Amino acid sequence: MTTSEVAATWDADRIRAADKAYVIHSWSNQGAVNATPIAGGEGAWFWDHEGNRYLDFQSQLVNMNLGHQHPRIVEAIRAKAAEMCYIGPNYAEQSRAQLAELMAEVTPGDLRMSFFTTGGAAANENAIRLARHVTGRQKVVARYRSYHGATAGAIALTGDPRRWHAEPGPTGVVRMFDPYTYRCPAGHPDPCPVCTGAPHLEEILQYENPNTVAAVILETVTGTNGILPPPPGYLRSIREVCDRYGIVLIFDEVMAGFGRTGEWFACDHWGVTPDILITAKGLNSGYVPLGAMTVDERISDWLMNNKFWGGLTYAGHPLACASGVASIEAMREERIIENAREMGARLNAGLHRLAERHPSIGEVRGLGLFQGLELVRDRATREPLVPFNPVGEAGAPMQAVVAAAKKRGLYLSANNNVVRLTPPLVIGAEDIDLALDILDDVLVHADAAGVS
Ligand code: PLP
Repeated sequence: MTTSEVAATWDADRIRAADKAYVIHSWSNQGAVNATPIAGGEGAWFWDHEGNRYLDFQSQLVNMNLGHQHPRIVEAIRAKAAEMCYIGPNYAEQSRAQLAELMAEVTPGDLRMSFFTTGGAAANENAIRLARHVTGRQKVVARYRSYHGATAGAIALTGDPRRWHAEPGPTGVVRMFDPYTYRCPAGHPDPCPVCTGAPHLEEILQYENPNTVAAVILETVTGTNGILPPPPGYLRSIREVCDRYGIVLIFDEVMAGFGRTGEWFACDHWGVTPDILITAKGLNSGYVPLGAMTVDERISDWLMNNKFWGGLTYAGHPLACASGVASIEAMREERIIENAREMGARLNAGLHRLAERHPSIGEVRGLGLFQGLELVRDRATREPLVPFNPVGEAGAPMQAVVAAAKKRGLYLSANNNVVRLTPPLVIGAEDIDLALDILDDVLVHADAAGVS
């Protein structure tokens, strides 16, 4: 039998049983895993073996910016596989060279050279190491409401509770607060030292000694930990502080990049360019694992005379790079960024209409198709619908919303008390409206948990 004939003998029950027995799932107690076998997908939709269809309002892990089975990316992988599946990173290869050239074109400012990795965490690891080598310094400032990946260095940078289980980790990470205007840790006076950026960072640098700080890393728009766009002026003021002290500024746009916010990169909204830009996910919609570290002119020039102490067997994998090239070409030719902007505006307007009807909606926020609903028990006190890092029953009201949506065919995700709305950027108006209708119905579960 051929490989595909064998695959055809695997029905849903056999897949489910083997998955349960042999696959270790991410961030889960394996006994509690009950993963649905999935049969296929197209555009903003995917379906299981029983024929249940799901509107993918999560783009899986917020990576499938061009949706499921985009024909152009599938064809590029097929063509590259027929030509050459793999060649080591020490050779020059067409798709790798082309993707690097395209990265220099679509990324902002003077970002120029790219190192390709297998995902976001590996790209962040390399960025931190490179920043340390370039500056000769050790410390890195990162924020609490962040996720930077699951490898040793990236999880140490991460603020969210997944870090706890990797501790004690590498030393040298210094933490700063996030510009979370709805729940500002500084009480949000006017002007707010945290939400304007520079005063809070300056204070931390004085305590730490700025001459020991190699890098500041942040998600331009925080993703996993709450969909938090920065206030206007925030990124620029962080940029200015970094410039003043010779600190490398790293923007982690693994989630926010490649059209998600309605611009190529979220930092384009504010015209601020980092020294190092980290991307993955939407770079090729995850069809083959891929991430990138793209560095500016100054660091590119530095690399011409200094060794880059980083490497991966799969750095610049041809199948991944070919899919990245096809993805950028499709984004350019198919009005993907414009669609993200238009559909994002439609979604945001619909969410604001829902907020008029549902007292559990504390705040609607986001850019493009990177939207979040912060759910509360009481709008006046802003008491969150579930506590931070809820355990067991404490998280039930949020789980009720997500489960009810799934039952209606809307695949959503939530973290703490924020529902994330991040569909593929190819989505159409009809599907946005369908999701809003379903949300209107399922938010009653959140309303019911609130003050009467
Ligand atoms: N950075 C951000 C902002 C992310 O959202 C993620 C993953 O969700 C990562 C880094 C890690 O990327 P990966 O899982 O590809 O290693």
